[in-house]
Amino acid sequence: MCTNEEWIPISALNHFLYCKRRCALVHLERVWEENRFTTEGRLLHEKVDSGKVEVRGDLKQATGILLHSQSLGVNGKADLVEFHRKGTTWHPFPVEYKRGKGASQEGDSVQLCLQALCLEEMLNISIPEGALFYGKMRRRKQVVFSPELRSHTKAMVTAVHELLRQDRLPPPVNDKRCVRCSLMEQCRPQESANPVQATRYLEGLREKS
Ligand code: SF4
Repeated sequence: MCTNEEWIPISALNHFLYCKRRCALVHLERVWEENRFTTEGRLLHEKVDSGKVEVRGDLKQATGILLHSQSLGVNGKADLVEFHRKGTTWHPFPVEYKRGKGASQEGDSVQLCLQALCLEEMLNISIPEGALFYGKMRRRKQVVFSPELRSHTKAMVTAVHELLRQDRLPPPVNDKRCVRCSLMEQCRPQESANPVQATRYLEGLREKS
């Protein structure tokens, strides 16, 4: 169980899975910058995330549902939670919207699983599966919340908590991820590989904030 100060947003996991340094820049140093990829992702989420509830027969669709898990110390929002009626019971089925074609499905599945873990704790039920919707393919991929995926997701959340308790940036990955990263300019992955320059850079960032 977490104190108020220790709660982290679900979105921190997204950054962490992409690059630990990006997660620390956003959530420790409060650095943010958009690029084409983040803008496309944001617009896709804004389109889905209207807070509407629609019911059609045995299907209920709710967007922008607020999520939290006291045991994991996370909170955030689900793009879409479908409720499928079976008999007299509605069964939740989370759906996460992603831009692209599913190249990082493993990381996307972890994010979706975290939403399911929140819903399970909030509603005191079991959720066996959900789906990822990839905007470029306009297709859903089903994700089963296996014991392995659940335990990997919890381990990742613990790792994000540990990272954000520290007051230091992890080293840059300095690989092809940097080319698509919106924080390339602020991170300066090549310079930051040098610890002296990295320390000066970090001091500069703190002076500006
Ligand atoms: S530029 Fe590279 S090292 Fe820096 S935050 Fe982005 S992905 Fe990570």
